Amino acid sequence: MKKLKYMVSSAIMCCFLSYMGVTAYANNIKIGLEKGFKNVASISVNDNDINVSIGNGKKYNFKSSYVIKPISGTYYKIDEGFSSFDEAKKRLSAFVGYSGIPALTDSGWAIYIRTDSGKLNYQVVNTGGNCVGFSVNGVNDFIVDGSNCAIVNASDGIIGLGSSFYRDSIEIYRSGSTLTAINLIDEENYLYGVINSEMPSSWSLEAQKAQAVAARTYMQRNKGKHGHYDLCDGVHCQDYNGIKNETENGKAAVNGTKGLCIYYDDKLIEAVYFSSDGGATIDGEEAWGTDTPYLKGKADKYEKECKEWTREFTYSEITNLCEAKGYGIGNVVTVDATYNNNGVITSLTFNGSKGKKTIEGDGIRSFFSKSSGGSLLSRNFKLNSGQTSTTVGNKIYVLNSANVTKLAASQLSAQNKDGQKGPLGNSFMAESKVESIRLEKGETIVEGKPGVVTLIGKGYGHNVGMSQYGAKGMAEEGYKFDDILKFYYTGVEIK
Ligand SMILES: [Zn+2]
Repeated sequence: MKKLKYMVSSAIMCCFLSYMGVTAYANNIKIGLEKGFKNVASISVNDNDINVSIGNGKKYNFKSSYVIKPISGTYYKIDEGFSSFDEAKKRLSAFVGYSGIPALTDSGWAIYIRTDSGKLNYQVVNTGGNCVGFSVNGVNDFIVDGSNCAIVNASDGIIGLGSSFYRDSIEIYRSGSTLTAINLIDEENYLYGVINSEMPSSWSLEAQKAQAVAARTYMQRNKGKHGHYDLCDGVHCQDYNGIKNETENGKAAVNGTKGLCIYYDDKLIEAVYFSSDGGATIDGEEAWGTDTPYLKGKADKYEKECKEWTREFTYSEITNLCEAKGYGIGNVVTVDATYNNNGVITSLTFNGSKGKKTIEGDGIRSFFSKSSGGSLLSRNFKLNSGQTSTTVGNKIYVLNSANVTKLAASQLSAQNKDGQKGPLGNSFMAESKVESIRLEKGETIVEGKPGVVTLIGKGYGHNVGMSQYGAKGMAEEGYKFDDILKFYYTGVEIK
């Protein structure tokens, strides 16, 4: 679950992939449980009333918890057409001195007896690539050896897996010696688990409904993203934790928007969202280079709460980051920024002793990924290049005519008695005995530390599409979920 504040955006931009999943039911989706059960040696099913089948075949009920592991081997197959596990087990008791086990196969229950436990006059079979054993206290009770994966569900509809709980069914997907659990789940049930993993349940219902529709749209558009399953359970797709984060409010938001998705030109949109925009979103093209008609940046007056952040970098740190990227521009001496009409950074240019390099798009955030603080939280920041090397002290303050002292906001310059104006330093010096100076002409001066690049930012996330904190602000002002979605996604229909 994302923590209550400033959640990392989960939905990321990706290309539309054709639906490759093999979901058997029209309204089901396959979620790869990568956070806890991806390529693991075994999977524990913790439930005392489970049903096991091969694919969508006949279900067999068991009143026990099991540990499931891959099984490989060569067996005699005693295929006498047993109708139940109990019947197969009873017949097995006749093979005294042989090592055997009941096996669920495509044609029903059989008995498998290990070929190394004695000679028998039966068909020899090698277990298939989907074969798994169900064990209790380390001893296999039965194996499932079918042409499709084993599927497990609980009679009450909620199955325990490790320490987690999931609605509907679990497919046990085997790859060699490892297993991956895949939740085969009704789409709306899946959204019950997503909604409050992505947004706090205490937020206004209309904000949660907007989130539910965005999450549903993302789900529909990205089916098949992972090949064997549709979506993963991590922030790579949408954060999902089974029933753990389900709440009545979240379920009401999902139910209140049942089946609704966002369309542009009659096609599902890429419903990207993120935590907080700090006052403005940006075009999808500004982040990812692809012009997307419904992902248009705009000033956002609705977002009332946003994370504010500051990062500082010395020039040697900036130089090291540029070297790590292989820019080959020598020692960086200044940094320049450009901004769009809403004040969001559009490019950074590093001017070095041997050349310069300009970066744009979402690469601006990730440029800093190798620094101690990692990538930037957002693109919505002001850059101060700290080019005040001749001043003394860390900060310069300006007094205005009302004698209010404030940190000055941009590059400091001064004017001499002949009316010449220029940057402080060399022929233009200002003196101060304390940490402030008075400038008769009221020129503005630099804020920040000399020789330090300071980034003063707002917001959290990629700034494209819906701001979750903005949705919260709009809902609190009385807007409905479709108003919210139509504000953040330009020119769309909800249907
Ligand atoms: Zn994913």
